[in-house]
Amino acid sequence: MVSLTFYGGVDEIGGNKVLLEDKKARVFFDFGQSFTMGCEFFTGWLSPRAVNGLGDYFEFGLLPKLKGLYAEGQLRFTDVRYVKPRFDAVFLSHAHFDHVNHIQFLDPEIPVYLGEGTKLFLEAMEKTSGFCDYGEHRYGTFRTGDKVKVDGMVVEPVHVDHSIPAAYGFLIHTSEGVIVYTGDLRVHGPRKDLTEEFADKARECEPVAMICEGTRMVDVERRKNYSEGQVERLSGKIVSSTDKIVFVTRYSRDMDRFRSFYNVARNNGRKIVVSPKTAHLLGRLVEDKRLDLPDPLRDKDILVYFKRKKSGGFSEGDYYVWEREFMDKMVTHEFVHKNQSRLVMDLDFYQFAELIDIRPDAGSHFIHSMSEPFSEEDIEDVVMHNWLDHFKMRFHQLHASGHMNRKQITSLIGYIKPKKVFPIHTENQHLFKKLPQTVQTVECGKTYKLK
Ligand SMILES: [Zn+2]
Repeated sequence: MVSLTFYGGVDEIGGNKVLLEDKKARVFFDFGQSFTMGCEFFTGWLSPRAVNGLGDYFEFGLLPKLKGLYAEGQLRFTDVRYVKPRFDAVFLSHAHFDHVNHIQFLDPEIPVYLGEGTKLFLEAMEKTSGFCDYGEHRYGTFRTGDKVKVDGMVVEPVHVDHSIPAAYGFLIHTSEGVIVYTGDLRVHGPRKDLTEEFADKARECEPVAMICEGTRMVDVERRKNYSEGQVERLSGKIVSSTDKIVFVTRYSRDMDRFRSFYNVARNNGRKIVVSPKTAHLLGRLVEDKRLDLPDPLRDKDILVYFKRKKSGGFSEGDYYVWEREFMDKMVTHEFVHKNQSRLVMDLDFYQFAELIDIRPDAGSHFIHSMSEPFSEEDIEDVVMHNWLDHFKMRFHQLHASGHMNRKQITSLIGYIKPKKVFPIHTENQHLFKKLPQTVQTVECGKTYKLK
């Protein structure tokens, strides 16, 4: 008997936690945190206390009270008694927050399987972020072509294209047939061939069920969405038509986007300036040759921006050990100011205060290469525009989504032909109901049997 229970990613985008049970095997697919988790109770600096482990989360029902899943220390102040693991494995599709973040609570004895590239991402994030700790785990890494056996079940990871490298979908061979789990995926990115390969393999299996993401399953798409190629071409136009500096804000783990701006800079005889954090991440990802990313230590077109810290004199002691590795590539606000026409610079919204030191010339450019804000009252968006106006900078919105649109989801499902579809990672399950296939909409915590 095979069953599926959805503990996250239900009626919302992200926070996937899918439990698959097949006879004795109990396996989770993704264990992420939803973007809005607990937002009725927590906001800004009011957040769950780490010292209380899972206590503050259980108080508001933010994680399921399942026995044999969590680490002993996390349960100390809760009414859930610790018992030895009753789950066999957790598989992670990719390194986005909404798919991995809650592994920090898991019993370290439960194996966590993830792509080799995903492991590099997690390690880099733990190293460079003061508050990121995924906990201790027995990690096992995989690549496309591997088959991981778990208590009678076989999990076959297959690469897909998404807005982060090393993203996978899964073909799960159970006693009732194959269940396909898409993870997050797209077919308009630079590696759409990966998603196509996944779709082919999934179709060949004649799956009994497909757990399908539906981020962009919407009635009307209001936000502008380009392909990655269009983002690169349109950014190239901006850079080639100015002698001012061009700043870029993008998702820090989107390496396709990094590559686009890296290409744009080089094609225009400019260098790209990145943060030590991005340099560290690149330095780890070059270990995976297949990702084909430039080495920040060797590539002459990559410079690393060091902020003013304690001493103000940019001395080694001001920086973390992992940052010091890049001091040979260091540029400061003075250098950036003097070389504006020769640079494209990564600049996070949260690093905007650097603009006060850099003093960009009026008429400089700013490319917002992320999703457009959800509402017009988005406070960060208002603040961002205040800064841009203050420095007389020109704003551009250029972004390619990491997800398929409605038409593409519809045709993917039509191509794979599963017997049943379970929509997750979507706010619009009801739109899946309009598909010709059998669709089982899901409720959080409810178990669905497959026969
Ligand atoms: Zn994702």
